[in-house]
Amino acid sequence: MADIVIIGAGPAGINAAEVLCAKGLKPILIDEGARAGGQGYRRPADDLALDMNRLMGSEAQKYAALHRRFETLLARIDYRPGTLVWAIDGNTLHLLRDGHAEALAFDKLLIASGAMDRIAPLPGWTLPGVFTLGGAQVALKDQGCLIGSRVAFLGSSPLLALAAKQYRDIGAEIAVIADTTPFSAKAAALPALLRAPRTLFRGLWYMGASLRAGTKLLHGVTPIAIEGRNRVEALVLRDDQGRERRFACDAVALGYGLKPETQLADLAGARFAYDPGFRLFLPLIDGMGRARPGLYLAGDGVRIGGADAAEASGALAAHAILSDTGHGQDIEATRDLARQVKRLRDFQRGLARAFAWPKAQIAALPDAVTLCRCENVTVGEVRAAMAKDLGPAEVNRVKAMTRCGMGRCQGRVCGPALQEIVAAGTGGDGAAAGRLRGQAPVKPIALAAAGDPA
Ligand SMILES: Cc1cc2nc3c(=O)[nH]c(=O)nc-3n(C[C@H](O)[C@H](O)[C@H](O)COP(=O)(O)OP(=O)(O)OC[C@H]3O[C@@H](n4cnc5c(N)ncnc54)[C@H](O)[C@@H]3O)c2cc1C
Repeated sequence: MADIVIIGAGPAGINAAEVLCAKGLKPILIDEGARAGGQGYRRPADDLALDMNRLMGSEAQKYAALHRRFETLLARIDYRPGTLVWAIDGNTLHLLRDGHAEALAFDKLLIASGAMDRIAPLPGWTLPGVFTLGGAQVALKDQGCLIGSRVAFLGSSPLLALAAKQYRDIGAEIAVIADTTPFSAKAAALPALLRAPRTLFRGLWYMGASLRAGTKLLHGVTPIAIEGRNRVEALVLRDDQGRERRFACDAVALGYGLKPETQLADLAGARFAYDPGFRLFLPLIDGMGRARPGLYLAGDGVRIGGADAAEASGALAAHAILSDTGHGQDIEATRDLARQVKRLRDFQRGLARAFAWPKAQIAALPDAVTLCRCENVTVGEVRAAMAKDLGPAEVNRVKAMTRCGMGRCQGRVCGPALQEIVAAGTGGDGAAAGRLRGQAPVKPIALAAAGDPA
């Protein structure tokens, strides 16, 4: 049996491994990606010879520093890249590597599985040329590609202005940056945002850079549709003065913030509670990241906090493991890390207010809009199922009746919007709509591999 397994070689997982190695322990570090660094601090293949300084500007130094720290760890950990954890059963992980299934028993498990984009559908969102904002950034950082030559950025996120700047710097035209949250909400969130003044300043600087470059930057918009015959041709929206406006473009990046990837934590037995600030069900943890005996959660996979919070929370969870395995507790280090994590996560709470999840817009979506693209289920089909006598009033029953959330992504994409449609239909809040339960396989795998006796 392996003593300690970490899932996720992003900032959280790498920092956790560093703390454990410093005490002479040798954790297994698993990641489905080919190269360590995680989602934000991506490390493109060397043979692409991407100029990261040009693509990422000052951020590139931070990426390179984490990659260098990881290199120095390599000899002291059991690193398993290209390995997907697709199920957890008691104290056994089910892995898929090079198409083959393996089982791995563990004593202590730290899950640092990161986050993914949270999607708010709108008419036309399934057209070719529509990407998530994270996807648009991945195309740039991982492959040096752009999603289009004239790109509209739509959503509610501070990363809209950052990604638009990165796209503009390497030659894309920016059709518009359209933010669904009014400017007044950002001003009201200022006291919470001052918890991380440098990050706040950087965000303001990116917005200023867009304005200086002459990019249209709109606040408080209501999206109407993404239009196009066979692919994206325009973004149509209503501005904060009530005027309908059409922006010609060949791609749209949709960014409504991130949501933790909690499926593995669910399968590993974490308990969840609804968080009204983020409008998400999140795993319950103690101040150091313990979810239950032997299970630890860190990074954006448990609370969205950004890369710096991920680093600190990964280290903190590793200190919890050290303490629970009789290696003592470094009181001063854990206190400092806990303070840092709290400050940065509080800042993210402020961001969640400044860049709000558009629950009212989702509740008002027309019936014809596709909600679940894996199973091709519309908003209207979900509403119709709920209107039946004894119809479902909770997301898992809606899923059973309509197949919404039952396809390849297992609700990772449509889940948050489904929750808002159900909440609006029952007159209740997000908590009353219930939580889509995690199911294995957490990501698509070949049926033959699942049946492969390990
Ligand atoms: C698409 C995207 C783009 C982003 N871009 C930026 C950016 O430009 N700037 C910025 O500051 N922040 C960005 N972020 C946010 C940033 O990624 C996080 O704040 C930070 O990386 C969190 O670190 P982490 O270690 O918690 O998770 P991550 O860095 O996401 O690392 C999680 C790791 O877990 C692995 N993993 C997940 N599930 C499994 C599984 N089932 N089996 C095996 N391995 C698994 C993943 O492959 C990943 O490497 C982005 C996030 C996303 C989702």
